Amino acid sequence: MRFDKYWVLQVKAPFFVTKKQIDIFLDKNTAWIEKYHEIAKQKILPESEVEILKQKAKAYIPQRVEYFAKKYWFKYEKIRITCARTRWGSCSSRKTLSFSYRLMQYRDECIDYVIIHELCHLRQMNHSQKFWSEVRAIMPEYKKWEKELKWVKENIL
Ligand SMILES: [Zn+2]
Repeated sequence: MRFDKYWVLQVKAPFFVTKKQIDIFLDKNTAWIEKYHEIAKQKILPESEVEILKQKAKAYIPQRVEYFAKKYWFKYEKIRITCARTRWGSCSSRKTLSFSYRLMQYRDECIDYVIIHELCHLRQMNHSQKFWSEVRAIMPEYKKWEKELKWVKENIL
């Protein structure tokens, strides 16, 4: 089991439980503990971790937006990196695209999905069928990543 320096795993047990029994219990439940550790980590990010994610977002997201914009002829004004907790991205009528640095915690495909979603809003400022068909044309499997982010929102954030 691996924990980073910010986290401590505390085990509470009745006095008659031996150290060995605790070790066996921990061994048996490693997967479960790691899963909940992952969830806890994402809920409360240490300040230094936030800084790292913000830096990563600033370095990664704009060039990725530019890549898709060039390839699919989208025109945007500027990009902002936000701290939004559950709003992954947005697109203003002034063509400013905003993305939460928190996206950097998830897989590349999820980040691409949000970028494509917001870029498509430059053409369709709604969630009409037309909007979704634009998204699908660029990313046919978008539903998978949309679902994954939705799961994160409902279960982790
Ligand atoms: Zn949208």
